[in-house]
Formats: sequence, structure tokens, C-alpha cells
Amino acid sequence: MNQLIDVGIIGGGPAGMSAALALGRARKSVVVIDEGRPRNRVTRESHGFLTRDGITPSEFRRIAREQISAYSSVHFVEDTAVTITGHDGNFLISTAQGTTYQSKKLLFAVGMKDLPLPVNGLAEVYGKSAFVCPYCDGWELRDQPLVLIANGEKALHLAKMLSGWTHQYTICTNGPDQFTEEQRMELLQHRVPVFDSPIERIVSVDGMVQRVNLVDGNSISCTGIFFAPKLVAGSDLPKALGCQVSEAGMVIVDSFGKTSVPGVYSAGDAATTQYQVIAAAALGSVAGMSINNELLVEEWNRQS
Ligand SMILES: Cc1cc2nc3c(=O)[nH]c(=O)nc-3n(C[C@H](O)[C@H](O)[C@H](O)COP(=O)(O)OP(=O)(O)OC[C@H]3O[C@@H](n4cnc5c(N)ncnc54)[C@H](O)[C@@H]3O)c2cc1C
Repeated sequence: MNQLIDVGIIGGGPAGMSAALALGRARKSVVVIDEGRPRNRVTRESHGFLTRDGITPSEFRRIAREQISAYSSVHFVEDTAVTITGHDGNFLISTAQGTTYQSKKLLFAVGMKDLPLPVNGLAEVYGKSAFVCPYCDGWELRDQPLVLIANGEKALHLAKMLSGWTHQYTICTNGPDQFTEEQRMELLQHRVPVFDSPIERIVSVDGMVQRVNLVDGNSISCTGIFFAPKLVAGSDLPKALGCQVSEAGMVIVDSFGKTSVPGVYSAGDAATTQYQVIAAAALGSVAGMSINNELLVEEWNRQS
């Protein structure tokens, strides 16, 4: 595509699609480049989005795309953005399939990636009976015996969070525990059992966890697992373009989604720690409207 479009959106998850909706309704030309690997693709159901509680991620995406198709200035392409050069007013986006798009503004809605924990059997249960966020999947596992695979501060945080859904849980640190003496006392006080043996295997049937076997011979029966994944940025492109990012890989933005690079915005998981579909969609919408405002003011000033 050689023509200069208004906005190039990298990432077509809830944040990117929501921005595209706002921009399409504002009559802006938009290309959404999406490689189709949203964070929640492993789950059977997505929870907590008002009016869409329990929907499959693919159905959510289908409805969103169908509704956005009413705005003909928005185009979706299945591709991966690999390099971005240029500056405010003229960015060049090159993709894996060899296409180049030219846009006045950019939105990174690239999400975050969960790196798989090296635990035997976790891949079989991830998204079916092993989850990362109590707000997303705690209700379905309420009052059930759970195992938390986490260590140190993250384990304590997860334990506090899960206490709202069940009191039957055990922490497996999967190797030497990294608790401070104070944290150990806190867990003892709340009667949370802690096992520090490495995990030998998670035993499951059809994706439903049955027990967690430890190398030291212990076996913990449970019907669900929560774990703390290692998260990394969904794409290195924001950093490569000069956007300020946190140590954890989050793009630093203001309350309108504006990054430190003129003309470049970011929204959704890529630019927040509130990892929820509804939050990603809201932030995408705000960024879309902010980009539109910027384009309108620039055009207005050009004509003054
Ligand atoms: C197991 C699990 C279960 C979850 N369950 C829930 C739930 O029940 N309810 C809830 O509210 N939240 C849930 N979440 C969180 C939710 O998935 C995220 O908050 C949400 O997907 C964030 O939307 P996003 O648009 O920011 O990013 P994503 O949905 O991750 O979308 C980012 C998109 O950008 C694409 N992309 C990245 N880089 C490039 C590139 N260079 N070129 C082209 N495309 C690119 C990716 O492939 C992806 O399609 C869950 C997360 C996990 C891990």
C-alpha cells in the first residue's frame, strides 16, 4: 500500500480493535496489522467483560471484526510488522510478507507475552485448569483445592488474591523458596502449606489437573492451578523506535496513550499492568480518540 494512511495499528487484540473502531467512526483511514496471537488464545472462556462474560476469545474477536467492518476506512491485514522507521507524519511499517505501509500516526497494541514455565505437564492444562489471573478464572475454581506455582513476593501476592475465592491452596515454589523470614511467618500464620521441592510433573486428564507430583515424592491433589508467568513485551518494535519502556517491557504512556515519541501511541496490555480485556479495550478507545484529536488539530492548524 503506497498511499499515506492516517493510522497504522500494530496488534489487533481488544486494544487495537477498539482503537480501530474509534478511528473508523472518526472517518480516519486505518490499517490494523495483526499476527493473531492474543494473550488469552489458550482459554476456553473469557470472563469479566460486561455483556460478554464467558465468551470464547475467538467469538469476541469475530463480533468485534464484524462490527468494525461497517467502517470501510479500516482494513485488517494478517501479517507481522517487523520494522518501523520514519517520524511523526510519515512512518514506514514493513511486514514479514514484504508489504510496506505508510502512516501519519502509529499505535502499538502489541500486548504482552507469557513465557511458558518449564514445568512438565503445564502446557496440557494451561487455559483449561491452570490460569494466571484470579479475576479471569477464580470464580470457576471457587472453594476448590488449588496449587499456586510461584515463589517469593509473587507467591505471597497470589496467595492473598486467591484467598477471596478459596482457602484450600498450597504453594509450590518449584525449587528453593525465596521468602523472607517475615513472609514465611505470614504464610504460616495464614496456614498456607509451602512445598519447595522441584515439580516432577503435573498429572491431568483432558486438560483437567488431578495432582502435582514433586521430585521429593510428595503428591498434591488439586483441581486447579494458578501460576505467575514471566511476562515480556509483545514486540520489541516500540523500544526499537525509541519509545521509553519500563524494565518489565511496558511502554510508558500518558493518560491518553501517548508515548515519549511524537506521533506514537500505545494501549492495552503493552502499556498497562491492568491485564484485562475490558481495560485493554478502554485504553485502545482512549488512544484512538487521542490520535484522532491530534490529527484534527494538526489539520486545523495547517489551514489557519
Ligand atoms: C491464560 C489467560 C487468560 C486470560 N483470561 C482473561 C479473562 O478471562 N478476562 C480478561 O478480561 N482478561 C483475560 N486475560 C487477559 C487478556 O488476555 C489481556 O488483557 C488482553 O488480551 C489484552 O489485550 P491487548 O489487545 O492489549 O493484547 P492481545 O490481546 O495480546 O493482542 C495483541 C495482538 O498483537 C499482535 N502482535 C504483537 N506484535 C505484533 C507485530 N509485530 N505485528 C503484528 N501483530 C503483532 C499479537 O499477535 C496479538 O494478536 C487472560 C490472559 C491470559 C494469559
